[in-house]
Amino acid sequence: MPDDRKSDLHATNSKFQYCANRTADWAWRYPDENCVTSKSEAEAAIYDALRDETDDLHANLVQKAIKRATDDIGNCVDRLADGENTSKPHYDTFSIVYDKRAATYYRDKVSLATVNGRVECKYDLPDDPEGTPHGEYLLNEDYSFSTSTVHYDSKTDEFYLHAVMEREIDANSPEKAEDSRVLGVDCNVDDHIAVTSTGRFVGNADYLNHQRREFEKRRASLQQTGTRSGHLTYHRIGDRFGRWSQDYLHQCSNEIVAESHRHNCTHIAFEDLKQIRERISDDKKFQQWAFNELQQQTENKAELAGIAVENVEPAYTSQQCSKCGCTLEENRDGQRFACLDCSYSVNADYNAAKNIARKLALKLQRGQKSPAGGAFCQYALKPGVMTVNATDVASDAYVSVERESTGKPTTFSRW
Ligand SMILES: [Zn+2]
Repeated sequence: MPDDRKSDLHATNSKFQYCANRTADWAWRYPDENCVTSKSEAEAAIYDALRDETDDLHANLVQKAIKRATDDIGNCVDRLADGENTSKPHYDTFSIVYDKRAATYYRDKVSLATVNGRVECKYDLPDDPEGTPHGEYLLNEDYSFSTSTVHYDSKTDEFYLHAVMEREIDANSPEKAEDSRVLGVDCNVDDHIAVTSTGRFVGNADYLNHQRREFEKRRASLQQTGTRSGHLTYHRIGDRFGRWSQDYLHQCSNEIVAESHRHNCTHIAFEDLKQIRERISDDKKFQQWAFNELQQQTENKAELAGIAVENVEPAYTSQQCSKCGCTLEENRDGQRFACLDCSYSVNADYNAAKNIARKLALKLQRGQKSPAGGAFCQYALKPGVMTVNATDVASDAYVSVERESTGKPTTFSRW
């Protein structure tokens, strides 16, 4: 961002947030009776006023601010219906939504509408984009830009473009290859051992670790006695714990395979264990063993059922929002995932499991770029399945709403 234009973007953000807050105020004025969640209803009521009040902020930015507020209020209404606590959304962080009307996207730069005309920003890309999202999507001509958001990091005084990239496929190809459907599984060292993309929480890692510690204690006390009988028990207890934990993991792997059956999955996706291992400290050998055992057992059982087990790279799976694709370290706060961009808030491991499923579905989709391609690669989610076709990062709600508003032909399907 050119130094002399930073203030223009900050001023644009202020007006964008103003529009979102004004929309929220308006749509939330009768929270007990009727919260407005329809973007067109809100536009009809306050769009003209907002254009006036913001000295003609770009028309599309006003629309996007209205949409952000009505989308969020839609989420709030869902939460209220579930008996959860919620309150009127408020906007005070830097985040502006740009689609192709208010921005022009290139592979090396973007031109953004501001309150003071357009500003052109060059991307700051890694020297070697191979294997990064930049190489995979941004620099890949198969993908085109969709709606993006601009963020600001006040610590470093830097701006970020979070670009959603999409790729169209011909969903109606008569020579459609066989469909695949993926169940994503996130493995954990605490809380649940595994969480699936369909929202199933499997096993209890804390319990397993607790049993392990109890076993170590008993072993240590037996070692101290130093008697022959103590020595024999020492081995027996080891064997017994080994068998016990294996049995425990068998129950977990059974549940995972059953879940993939329930959703008619053809594939199960795990994070690559070799890469997970590097994240685990040396004193967690037991957990490595448990992950490995769980994955191996699942693989064996799935194979018998004709389901393939594959690995994906673990990069960003815990930081990325499975709903809008926004990838920020700050999105994750312990067991909770809360997207700073779209405010999607959910169990962190469940969010990761959905990302893992999508990663494999994408990989399978890419592998089918043959003349006879066009197969559906789907991933299984709690309310249904998602078809990977156009975009890596979009969610059901996000894509369908976007597509509705832009009137693009849709190859997106969900059921
Ligand atoms: Zn999000």
